[in-house]
Amino acid sequence: MEILVISLVVIGIILLYDPVSEWINRLHVKRQHKLFLAQEPFYHSIVAQHLRFYHRLSMEEQRKFLFRTFLFRKAKRFHYIEVEESAEMPVLISAISVQLTFGLDKFLLNFFRDIYVLKDDYHYGFNSRPFQGHVDHSGIYLTWDNFMEGVKGQVPNCNMGLHEMGHALTYVNFISQTEEDKHFKKEFKNFSKVARPIFERMQRGEKNMLDPYAGTNYHEFWAVSVEVFFENPMRMREELPELYAAMSKLLRQDPLVIVNSAKIAA
Ligand SMILES: [Zn+2]
Repeated sequence: MEILVISLVVIGIILLYDPVSEWINRLHVKRQHKLFLAQEPFYHSIVAQHLRFYHRLSMEEQRKFLFRTFLFRKAKRFHYIEVEESAEMPVLISAISVQLTFGLDKFLLNFFRDIYVLKDDYHYGFNSRPFQGHVDHSGIYLTWDNFMEGVKGQVPNCNMGLHEMGHALTYVNFISQTEEDKHFKKEFKNFSKVARPIFERMQRGEKNMLDPYAGTNYHEFWAVSVEVFFENPMRMREELPELYAAMSKLLRQDPLVIVNSAKIAA
């Protein structure tokens, strides 16, 4: 009898687990949205001031963008190393990540709890080359000066924030497998059918519009492609049309489509 009762309880827990956890999740998002509404003008002012991407979006998408940015920021611990913390730093860093994942369902990069913000190029491990940023099991590392250069579009084809978030996105999908986006994982195979041959030709010395650094290894090829996709989409579509199309399908967004043309003109 006792075994029967225990079995029924266990079966009940298993059956109810999904709907109950979904309900708790919905409740959590609802509560977070309430908190977000009070902060929305603050988020808007920072993101609208700096992020070109944001102005391409419709009003509805902008609200979704800001809410995702808010949730991302709340899910992370930011550490500032030899750089003076400012209110815009965690917001913009979160926003860049949301830009990359805006077409995907999963956007929190769950696994990475810590984001380290440094001032400028630094040395890491045994590498003699200075780093602008990197991603490893301990967190996401960014240098603020380089990050802002990318946000402002000061160096053609470069956006260090997008580059590192690109590494983080493949990390959570394929290495830690802690936040797998069904579409991204499935489509990455199709992306690679197009991308791998281009990467292999680069390794054999072929030149194209991507920085030669993309030929270092396939991880870097991916991260450099992310940067160029957002920073120079017109030229990428012209010179590497298959890669551009594969990237657009993978990330479920097209930087050349402007939803909010009125805002751009304003
Ligand atoms: Zn890299």
